Amino acid sequence: MPKVLGVPRELIDRKTVTLGDAEIRVPGEGKAYACPTLIYHYIVKHGYLPPDEFLEAVRQTFR
Ligand SMILES: [Zn+2]
Repeated sequence: MPKVLGVPRELIDRKTVTLGDAEIRVPGEGKAYACPTLIYHYIVKHGYLPPDEFLEAVRQTFR
């Protein structure tokens, strides 16, 4: 997707979403994980692999 004023935008579920202006928060075992919404771009476009415990927390939250 093109960048608008340097802000990455991605097509997710047929909607164009601006990334980098919000946070994702995921509850974990006795803690909570927080990351910028740009994590989607890092994973999909740059092959970033978040830590296993974060991925497991995401799976548990959104199953
Ligand atoms: Zn990039």
